[in-house]
Amino acid sequence: MGLLAEFGETAIPVSGGTDLIPNMKHRLFTPANLVALKGIGELKGIREEDGELVIGAAETLTAVSLHPSVRLHFTALTDAAGHVAGPQLRNSGTIGGNVCLDTRCTYYNQSHFWRQALGFCLKKDGDVCHVTRVGKACVAAHSADTPPVLMTLGATLDISGPGGTRTVPVRDFFIADGIWNTRREPGEIVTRIRVPLPEPELRTGYVKLRQRQSIDFPLLTVAVAADVDPANRLRSLRGVVTGLGACPKELSGWEELAEGEVLTDEIIEGLAERAFKQCHPLENMIGDAEWRRAMVPVHVTRALRKLRH
Ligand SMILES: Cc1cc2nc3c(=O)[nH]c(=O)nc-3n(C[C@H](O)[C@H](O)[C@H](O)COP(=O)(O)OP(=O)(O)OC[C@H]3O[C@@H](n4cnc5c(N)ncnc54)[C@H](O)[C@@H]3O)c2cc1C
Ligand code: SF4
Repeated sequence: MGLLAEFGETAIPVSGGTDLIPNMKHRLFTPANLVALKGIGELKGIREEDGELVIGAAETLTAVSLHPSVRLHFTALTDAAGHVAGPQLRNSGTIGGNVCLDTRCTYYNQSHFWRQALGFCLKKDGDVCHVTRVGKACVAAHSADTPPVLMTLGATLDISGPGGTRTVPVRDFFIADGIWNTRREPGEIVTRIRVPLPEPELRTGYVKLRQRQSIDFPLLTVAVAADVDPANRLRSLRGVVTGLGACPKELSGWEELAEGEVLTDEIIEGLAERAFKQCHPLENMIGDAEWRRAMVPVHVTRALRKLRH
């Protein structure tokens, strides 16, 4: 923290470096200093404590996806962490880096030469957006796998910086600004992720759409979580999608359709239809936007079916 404060805007924190380093090669970030977080003991460890699962931000995605407590309580988190990129990247990439991942766009995640040839854009060095062609907002897509799941689980983040330490719900951490899509202040780092342990059981589901199953960023992810009574009726149901706009999107209006109901095919169809109405992908990623929209109800249906066991 001291180093980040000392170097100010010239420094960027790095954990696994699996996203930051490729981005630096593309000259999307040109920091004079990198402050390495991965060796800091306080950012390590996964343990159950006072009714929460506490995950150190520097834990690798592999460690998270394989941890017995994660596997026992949160299948969706196991799946999400276990489907980021490919195995080598998950062995280096951390959950803190995943939560703080930069947004992505077809016109941004390119070499300097490529971007210069087209003309730079709002997010880096330019003053136009090649996606919307109007306005002054960047709509690069939030493309990280674990945050939608953490949102459905009601997780919070411990954040430390020059102003002290604060705790922020993951659902309040993101903002709809593709240039800087989190509420992190300069010099702040995420130190821990806290997930409330469910009483007695939370059913969770996660599905991901990507070009190559072996290694790729999401074109769409859907995370769902449900509290179900002994008669299989839903006490609560939450759904979050991402890969569309600058921040993950909470699906709304599900309570009135599903609470108190058994998750039948008809109920799932109604929920999927409602999700379709709420999701409007843009041409910010590979994959035709209309096709990605058509995939929303398909993937919402698949995620919800995972809750019926
Ligand atoms: C080929 C390829 C495929 C990929 N596929 C996926 C995918 O499918 N899904 C996906 O989600 N990601 C994917 N990634 C991105 C990346 O590998 C993961 O998101 C990984 O979890 C990032 O973690 P990291 O520790 O490597 O982050 P870093 O690269 O070290 O950092 C990423 C960003 O987070 C910031 N940061 C890191 N740690 C902290 C912290 N504790 N507090 C505050 N800020 C921090 C850094 O400053 C940087 O801005 C892919 C990357 C590649 C190269
Ligand atoms: S959405 Fe627009 S401004 Fe943002 S990275 Fe893409 S082209 Fe650039």
